[in-house]
Amino acid sequence: MTHTSQVVVIGGGQAGLAAGYHLRRLGLDFVILDAQITPGGAWQHTWDSLHLFSPAAYSSLPGRLMPTQIGETYPDAQHVVEYLTDYEKRYELPVERPVRVLGVHRDGPLLRVETDSGTWRARAVISATGAWWRPFLPAVSGRADFEGRQLHTVEYHSPDEFTGRRVVVVGGGNSGAQIAADLAHATQLTWVTQRPPSFLADDIDGRALFDTATARRRALDEGRTDTGGVASLGDIVAVPPVRAARDRGLLAARPMFSRLVPDGVEWADGTRSEADAIIWCTGFRPTLSHLTPLQLRGGRGRIATEGTRAVGEPRLHLLGYGDWTGPASATLIGVGRPAREAAREISALLTAGAT
Ligand code: FAD
Repeated sequence: MTHTSQVVVIGGGQAGLAAGYHLRRLGLDFVILDAQITPGGAWQHTWDSLHLFSPAAYSSLPGRLMPTQIGETYPDAQHVVEYLTDYEKRYELPVERPVRVLGVHRDGPLLRVETDSGTWRARAVISATGAWWRPFLPAVSGRADFEGRQLHTVEYHSPDEFTGRRVVVVGGGNSGAQIAADLAHATQLTWVTQRPPSFLADDIDGRALFDTATARRRALDEGRTDTGGVASLGDIVAVPPVRAARDRGLLAARPMFSRLVPDGVEWADGTRSEADAIIWCTGFRPTLSHLTPLQLRGGRGRIATEGTRAVGEPRLHLLGYGDWTGPASATLIGVGRPAREAAREISALLTAGAT
C-alpha cells in the first residue's frame, strides 16, 4: 500500500516526538513511523536502575514540562517512558507502530520511504532513529577465545543475574560508571577504563552540562571566542549511586587490558583477572542504515549536515544523534531547538516548492 504525506519522520523516540510537536505547530501534514511496539524509544530498554542525570524540569521536550517523579530528584527510565507516552497522546502525534523503515530513496521530486508495512511518499524526511540500536564493540584481541558471557550495555538489566560472579565492566563513560556502581555491591567487580575515570564535581549534573553547552552555542552564534564545550568538565556525572560506590572505594578503575583469554582478561604486563562475564559499555553508533540508498555517508559513519539538514540531500534532516546534528540534540532538553529548526526549514522548503 502507498501513502502520501508532506513529511515522514522516521523514529518515534523523544527526537521524533519533538519534531512532531513543531511540525504540528507549523500546520504541516506528517506521519511518524516507529519500529517499537509501544511508546518510549530506547528508554523502554535500559537497565532497571538507570536514572537521568538531570532533574525532571531539565529533561523536558518542547511544550510540556516533565512532571517531578515523587521521591526522586533524578527520574528513572520508566518515568521517561510514561512522560513520552503522555506527550504523544497530549499532542495527538500521528505515530504508526510498529513500522520499520527499510530504505529511503530519491523518487523524482519526492522521497520514497519503503517500510515493512507499505510505502510512503513525502516531500521531506526527518530521520530520528537514535543510536541504541547499533551498539559498538571495540576490536580486542582474543574476543572469540573468552569462554564466559559477553554482553553490551543494551543487554544489561540488573545485578541479579551476576550475584557472586566475577564481572569485568569495560568503559569510562556514564554507562560504564553506572553499571559498575550497580554491580559493585553484589559481584567481584573489575572496572576497566581506557583512561583514568574523570568524574564531574559532585554538584554538577545535567543542568550545568546543558547550561555550558548553551553558553558555547551562544558564543559561537555571536562570533565570540569558543568558550569550550562540556568535555572539559569531565566524563562521568556523579549521580547518587555512582557517588556512593565511589566514596566507598568500590569504583577503582584499572587501565584497559590488552587481550581476552579463555577464562578472563590479560594486561600487557602479563597479569590476569578471571571473569565469568564481560560487559562492554563502549558506546553506540548512529542508526543510519535506512539512509544507505541516498549514498550520503561521510567520515566516521556520519552524514554531513548543516544544522540538521543533510548537505547532500536538502529534503532530509537528521535529528538527535549527537552534537553533529545540533548541540545537546541527543538529550531530552536539547532536542527541542534543533527540532524546531528542522521543522521551520522544511516548512520554508515546502512553501518555496509550492510557489
Ligand atoms: P531513541 O530513543 O533510540 O528513539 C529512536 C526510535 O526510532 C526508536 O523507537 C527506534 O525503535 C526507532 N527506529 C530506529 N530505527 C528505525 C527504523 N529503521 N524505522 C523505524 N523506526 C526506527 N539524555 C538525557 O537527556 N538525560 C539523561 O539522563 C540521559 N541518560 C542516558 C543514559 C544512557 C545509558 C543513554 C544510552 C542515553 C542517555 N541519554 C540521556 C541520551 C538520550 O536522551 C537517549 O539516548 C535518547 O533515547 C535518544 O532519543 P532518540 O529519540 O534520539 O532515540
